[in-house]
Amino acid sequence: MTDAVPQTVVASLDDPFAQLTGPLAETRNLHFEVASSTRLTPHMQRLELTAAELGGFRYAPGQDVMLLVAVDGRKPLRRRYTVRFHDPARRLLTIDVVLHGDGPGERWVRSARPGDRIEGIGPRGKISTNPEADWHLFMGDEAALPAILAMAESLPGASEATLVVEVPEAADEQEFSPVARTRVSWLHRLGRPAGDPATSLLVAEAADVELLPGRGHAYLLGEATVVLALRERLAARGLPQDQMSPKAYWGRGRANAGHGEPAKDA
Ligand SMILES: Cc1cc2nc3c(=O)[nH]c(=O)nc-3n(C[C@H](O)[C@H](O)[C@H](O)COP(=O)(O)OP(=O)(O)OC[C@H]3O[C@@H](n4cnc5c(N)ncnc54)[C@H](O)[C@@H]3O)c2cc1C
Repeated sequence: MTDAVPQTVVASLDDPFAQLTGPLAETRNLHFEVASSTRLTPHMQRLELTAAELGGFRYAPGQDVMLLVAVDGRKPLRRRYTVRFHDPARRLLTIDVVLHGDGPGERWVRSARPGDRIEGIGPRGKISTNPEADWHLFMGDEAALPAILAMAESLPGASEATLVVEVPEAADEQEFSPVARTRVSWLHRLGRPAGDPATSLLVAEAADVELLPGRGHAYLLGEATVVLALRERLAARGLPQDQMSPKAYWGRGRANAGHGEPAKDA
């Protein structure tokens, strides 16, 4: 039983999130213990986390939890992972984490064993499905796959959903259970670099993806510069900014900041 960060170290941190106020007023501390860790697909590890607080936990599909994965001196290093499933009766929360190479989040995920403990804060995140929309377009990479699948599965039967998801290879595709009318395009990178707008299959697809009649909403999630390019492509095709929810999940070649968001230029 290992703590991601020992309690004595947690107590001595210079932590901007020591008080859950302001934008964190709707969140709570979650004292997680790892229940299981399994390889879901070649590039995705599934973790089930349990916590006493999960019995009364409420979240909107697409929201995430922030985990204290490591420290840098007295500075906390947190990483954000989307809630894929929540089972209040069993007090279990499932997250699916991309194995992309290396980073403090990935190192913790690879080492996590049942019984290990990690501090969390959640739920976080402002993007959820737009109930006013006639159709929903989800575009993102494998880091966005948990959010895309959780949101798509939450849509009611009369909705139209189009999912365009870039994954490393065909074996990284996942089964899911939507009730809405749903079309899925899986784009396989097959060795191309992840998160490069110049070669991104997602960016290329944004020029051609069908925009259905009626009022739509696009959810654009993944690498920061790819998300920006997707937004520009869809805007050029006439989709208004207020019908798009873009969110950068990571930045190519740069570690995310200690609060879990892609680092901004200094
Ligand atoms: C709201 C939100 C929800 C998120 N939900 C999920 C989720 O459910 N599952 C999930 O896996 N990720 C999710 N992410 C993304 C995840 O937090 C980042 O990928 C984070 O950078 C991983 O931390 P790390 O410590 O492993 O790598 P970091 O230390 O941040 O980065 C180290 C290196 O790895 C590269 N890198 C980081 N992420 C990726 C990636 N996905 N692919 C390729 N290279 C990468 C960086 O460019 C850097 O060079 C979410 C992010 C946000 C903001």
